[in-house]
Amino acid sequence: MGAPRVERDADVIAGFLEDAAHVPGGHASGVTFPSNIAEVAAVVRESPLVLPIGAQSSLTGGATPRGGIVLSTRALGGISLVAPDLVRAGAGVTMAALQQALAPHGLYYPPVPTYEGAFVGGTIATNAAGAATFKYGSTRRWVEALTVVLADGSVLELRRRETTAHQGTLEIEVPHAGVRRVPLPTHTMPNVAKHSGGYAASPTLDAVDLFIGSEGTLGVIVEAVLRVIPRPQTTLALFPCASDDEAIAITGALREGHGGEVAAVEYMGADALGHLDDQAFHKAGISRPRDGSVLLLVQVEGAIDPFTRVLERHRVAEATNVALPGDTRSAARLFELREAVPAAINARVANAKVRVDPSIEKTAGDMIVPFARLRDSLTLYRETFAARGLDHAVWGHFSDGNLHPNVIPRSMEDVVRGREALLAIGRAVVGLGGSPLAEHGVGRNAVKQALLRQMYGDEGIEQMRRVKHALDPDWKLAPGVIFTR
Ligand SMILES: Cc1cc2nc3c(=O)[nH]c(=O)nc-3n(C[C@H](O)[C@H](O)[C@H](O)COP(=O)(O)OP(=O)(O)OC[C@H]3O[C@@H](n4cnc5c(N)ncnc54)[C@H](O)[C@@H]3O)c2cc1C
Repeated sequence: MGAPRVERDADVIAGFLEDAAHVPGGHASGVTFPSNIAEVAAVVRESPLVLPIGAQSSLTGGATPRGGIVLSTRALGGISLVAPDLVRAGAGVTMAALQQALAPHGLYYPPVPTYEGAFVGGTIATNAAGAATFKYGSTRRWVEALTVVLADGSVLELRRRETTAHQGTLEIEVPHAGVRRVPLPTHTMPNVAKHSGGYAASPTLDAVDLFIGSEGTLGVIVEAVLRVIPRPQTTLALFPCASDDEAIAITGALREGHGGEVAAVEYMGADALGHLDDQAFHKAGISRPRDGSVLLLVQVEGAIDPFTRVLERHRVAEATNVALPGDTRSAARLFELREAVPAAINARVANAKVRVDPSIEKTAGDMIVPFARLRDSLTLYRETFAARGLDHAVWGHFSDGNLHPNVIPRSMEDVVRGREALLAIGRAVVGLGGSPLAEHGVGRNAVKQALLRQMYGDEGIEQMRRVKHALDPDWKLAPGVIFTR
């Protein structure tokens, strides 16, 4: 089968030149929409430069083309249950469509990122993680098998536990193309709930794990077999805490199991809440918390009595707003408030870009530390920004120790100082046993690429280049993503 038609119309291409990071300067010579494995293989075989994309919800510029052909995976559909706990899904299936297809069977796919429009292929390529990582881990834990098209157009069918590395080298048998020897990086991955920063490493790495988190640079993911679970009965609860310390104490108790089956605790810092208008609170049906207070949004599965007792013990039960299982309207209201935080900050950045300087851009971290160091990390983020005179806001996935410290730039100088601050924070976060690249990947973002180099050193990046060279010697796939040539 030949390659599908490549769309060369500038108006069509224009719709694919930007991802959610809104980095300017995207360009491509065409866009194509293969609808099966053979078509993907033909596109990759015949094109010298290919960027595979999903929903382009990347926050790191990884899905922004820099020349060549954009390979949209949106026509790679198909969802089928292949076992009571396994679903096969095409790379182009959105998280929302997957959950919708699973719901009538009483099933659920847990590691869904906050943005439900993301595709199966994109979430695997970035090892995405959602709020519920605390209970369920990131995407990596849920992938049983992958179908991947390599840079020469050959098709790999990889099942977990079938191809594992021996003494740091993976030998991957490619049908009709012999064996590829892939020397693996030697770094130790940080011991935290999520990490999406460069290629996975371990002397006995599973080949499936090499492609998870490889951000389009090693192969095009066409299809995956994912593990699913019985759909949990989830209650949502939103409540204010008088201080960060109180929020940490409550989250600590919930993490230790005192509140029953808690899947996620989301945090909105006082600085972040200060940027919301009254309307956002009104829509959620709550009043604006007192100055200095923070908000927690908790997902509890199953019985909620133990959780209620924790809230009572900490004297926050009365101020708690609850959405019981099945009350999708109330749940949507509470989630909306959580999402209003990044939306408000992004709007501020966009405003400064229009009014002050078009070079101003989002300047934000995606840091994770072991939970025991969460207090230290909050102090670190705020003091590092404050020392540089930067306005800031912090929110994120509290139960994982994963927060998004954001600069709110008023000028281009703030952006420059913010990038310096993020590099300093990244260094300190590694010192706390964490990772400065938790869930959004590295992409083409210069600060994130610098954080990766800071973490693993020049030799670490060189080792990743050797992996790339073994599987994509011509640097055909997503060149410049994760590291430069
Ligand atoms: C509002 C919002 C909330 C978000 N919340 C979260 C969150 O909670 N957790 C989280 O982890 N992320 C989050 N993200 C980031 C983003 O949604 C994730 O990174 C997501 O996994 C990207 O999926 P995508 O389909 O949009 O991939 P894209 O953005 O299109 O691509 C991302 C990268 O993967 C590569 N890629 C895409 N598809 C394939 C494929 N089939 N084969 C090989 N490579 C491929 C691309 O080349 C690119 O490098 C959020 C983004 C937004 C806009």
